[in-house]
Amino acid sequence: MLTITEIAGFVGAGLAGAAYLPQISHLIRARCSAGISRLAFEIWLLASLLVAARAIAIHAGVFIVLGGVQVVATTLIMFYATRYKDTRCPIHLPAQSSAKAATVTAPVEAGPISGVRPATVRAAIVIACREPGAREILQREMSKRYSADYHIVACDRSAELAAWMRDLVAAGLPVALVIGEVDAQDPDGIEVLSATRAIDPTALRVAVARWGDWESMRCIFDAVTLGKIDHWVTRPVQSPAEEFHRSVTGFLMEWSSQRGGGFEAAQVIGTRWSARSQELRDLFARNRVPAGFYDATSGHGRQILRELGLESPQLPVVVLRFGTERPALVNPSNREIADAFGLMRPIAPEEIFDVTVVGAGPAGLAAAVYASSEGLRTVVVEQEAIGGQAGTSSMIRNYPGFSQGITGAQLAQETWQQAWTFGTTFVYMRQAESLSRVDGHYRLRLSDGGVLTTRTVIIATGATYRRLGIPFLEHLQGRGVFYGAAASEAPAMRGRNVFVAGAGNSAGQTALHMAKWASRVTILVRAKSLAGSMSEYLIRQIGATPNVDVCYRVQVAGGTGTGGLESLVLEDIPSGTRRSVPADALFVLIGSQPRTQWLGEAVARDQRGFIRTGPDLAPDTEGSWPSGRQPLPLETSLPGVFAAGDVRRGSVKRVASAVGEGAAAIPLVHRHLHSTPAAPAAGRHLRPALSRRSGEPAYARRAAT
Ligand SMILES: Cc1cc2nc3c(=O)[nH]c(=O)nc-3n(C[C@H](O)[C@H](O)[C@H](O)COP(=O)(O)OP(=O)(O)OC[C@H]3O[C@@H](n4cnc5c(N)ncnc54)[C@H](O)[C@@H]3O)c2cc1C
Repeated sequence: MLTITEIAGFVGAGLAGAAYLPQISHLIRARCSAGISRLAFEIWLLASLLVAARAIAIHAGVFIVLGGVQVVATTLIMFYATRYKDTRCPIHLPAQSSAKAATVTAPVEAGPISGVRPATVRAAIVIACREPGAREILQREMSKRYSADYHIVACDRSAELAAWMRDLVAAGLPVALVIGEVDAQDPDGIEVLSATRAIDPTALRVAVARWGDWESMRCIFDAVTLGKIDHWVTRPVQSPAEEFHRSVTGFLMEWSSQRGGGFEAAQVIGTRWSARSQELRDLFARNRVPAGFYDATSGHGRQILRELGLESPQLPVVVLRFGTERPALVNPSNREIADAFGLMRPIAPEEIFDVTVVGAGPAGLAAAVYASSEGLRTVVVEQEAIGGQAGTSSMIRNYPGFSQGITGAQLAQETWQQAWTFGTTFVYMRQAESLSRVDGHYRLRLSDGGVLTTRTVIIATGATYRRLGIPFLEHLQGRGVFYGAAASEAPAMRGRNVFVAGAGNSAGQTALHMAKWASRVTILVRAKSLAGSMSEYLIRQIGATPNVDVCYRVQVAGGTGTGGLESLVLEDIPSGTRRSVPADALFVLIGSQPRTQWLGEAVARDQRGFIRTGPDLAPDTEGSWPSGRQPLPLETSLPGVFAAGDVRRGSVKRVASAVGEGAAAIPLVHRHLHSTPAAPAAGRHLRPALSRRSGEPAYARRAAT
C-alpha cells in the first residue's frame, strides 16, 4: 500500500502541475502576492514529483500504471507550462494587498462611484510581444522609467496575455496600458490587443510599430479610427528613448485622468442617481476639477457628513478641499460653487473692457488667448464649462498638432490656462442674457444681474449638435459613432459597413464621401423622402452610387459593441418594429442649433438663428451700418460686435476652424478700436482701460507699438 507521504506526493504533484494552467494560475500569483515566492513553489513541485516517482519505483504492479499515467500527465502539464516560462511572478503586493483588492472591487458602499481606487494600488503595464527581442526592448524601457509606479508585466501572445489580464483584474490590479507589437511577424497583433477590451475595458491598448513599417502603420491607423485600439507608438530604437516615453507618459496621463482617484479637489456627497448629482459630476469632469462622489447613504458619505457636523443636510453637499478653509456648500448652485473656488476677481462697475468674449468653447478661448496676449483688456463669460462642445469630445483626432488625438477637455484646459496666463479675466457660470449699446459702449447683462461694459464683443456661443440621446451610443462616440461629417475618418472605412443618420446635404455628402472607401453605406432617413431636405444633385448622385442605400422611415434606436460599434438597432417608424444590423460606423448628422436666443433682436441672423457676418449681412442691415466703411469679415450687424465659430452662419463646424475664427477676430477688433474713439459711459466718470504694466490705456499702448 502507499504511505501517506506517497499519497501526498501524488496529490501535490498533480495539483502543482495543474496550477500552471492559465485558468487557475492566478492562484499561484495570489500566493506570490501573499509572500510565497515562486522559488518555494518550484521546490514544492519538485519534491512532490520526487515522492511520486519514489512511490512508483517501490510499488510496482497496480500502482505502476497509476504512477505512469500521472508522470505522463504531469510531464505534459509541465511541457504546457514551459510555454509560459516568461510568466514570472513580478508582482509582490504589499502585505495588505488582499484588503486593497477588496476595496477596489467593493461596491459603491466602499468608495466613490466614479471608480476611484486607492492611490496605493499600483496599476500594471502589460507588454504583449511574440518576438523576444522586441519584448526585451520594451520591457527594459518600461521598467527603467515606470517600475516605481507601475507593475511591469511582459508576456507572450494571446493566451498568456489574456490570462495575465484576468489575473490582474482578479487580484484587483487595474491595467493602465497593454502594449503590443504589430508587424508582419505579428499580423494578429491588433486583434489580440482589441480582445483585451473585454477583460479590462479601461486599459488603453497601444500598438507598437517598427519605424519604416508603413504597411503595419496603415492597419494601425485604421484600427485606431474604428476603436479597436486606442493609440500607437513607434518602437524605441535608442536609449534614452525620449520620443517613445513622451508618448507613453501621455497615454498614462490619459488613463489616470479617465480613471480618477487620487487627489480630490472637491467631494460631492449626494444621492447616487439624482439628476443634480449627475450634473455636478459632469460639470466637475468637464472643467477638469478632480472630484470624488460619495453616496450619502454609504459609510464614507455618512462619515464625511459627520465630520462636517452636518446632520441630514439638503443634498448634494459639495466640499472644496484645496484651500485652507475647506468650505462645505449645502445644495449649492453652480454659481455658488464657482464663487467659492475663488478663481474670479471682482469686476468694478466702472471697469471697461477692450473686448468681451461670450462663450469659452474653442472659438472663445482662442480669441481670449490672442486678445490678452496682444495687450487687450479681455473678459470671457462662460455659462457652463470651459471647452464648449469640444470639451465633451472624448477624443479629437483632427486637430492639427496632435497626431494621437487629444481629449476635448485637455485641449480646453490647456487653452484656458494659456489665456489665464496672458491675463484674461474669466467670469464663470454666468450666462450673457442681453446685449445693448449705451453711450458708445456695449453693455452685456449677465444672469447674476451683473453688467459688463466693453468696447467690442466677440460672440462665440456656438451651437448644439442634435444628439441621438441613446446613452450606449453616446458612450461609443469616437469609437465607431461620430457626430458630424468626420471626413478624416473616411480612409479607415475601407471595406466597412457604414451608416449615416440624417437627411440633409451634410448627410448626403458624408455618405458619398464614405462610399469611396466603405463596402456599403446606408443612409437612415426618418422622412418618406429626401426631396424636402437634400439637394437634387446629391439625391441623383446617391442614386447612381451602387454601394449607397437609403432607408426611409427608419431611426436609430440602439446599438451594441465592446471596443467599438458592432451593430445598430433600427426602428421602423410606422410599425415600431426593431431589427439589429451589423455596423462598423455610424455618422450622425441630424442638425445643430445655434445658441443665439439670448441676443433677442440685437444682431441680424438667418432664419435658423445663425449670426450673419461681413458680406453675408447685406442688404438688410445696410441702413443700420455707419457710413464710411463696410462690415469687416467676422463683424455682425452691430459695428464692433464680431461672431466666431459654430454660431456664425456659414462657419465650418470644426474645432480648428472655430479656433481660427476666434484668433482671426482679434485683428478685426484692433481695426475697429483704431477707428473708434473711446467714449465715456453715461452717468459715469470714465476711467480708461489701464494697462497693468505701463499705466497707459490698454488699447492706446497696443496702438502705439
Ligand atoms: C460630441 C462632439 C464631438 C465633436 N468632435 C469633433 C472633432 O472630433 N473634431 C472637430 O473638429 N470638431 C468636433 N466637434 C465640433 C466642435 O466641437 C465644434 O465645432 C466646436 O466646439 C465649436 O466651437 P465654438 O467655440 O464655436 O462653440 P462651442 O464649442 O459650442 O462653445 C460655445 C460655448 O459658449 C457657451 N455659451 C453659449 N451661450 C452662452 C451665453 N449666453 N453666455 C455664456 N456662455 C454661453 C457654451 O456653454 C459653450 O461653452 C464635435 C462636437 C461635438 C458635439
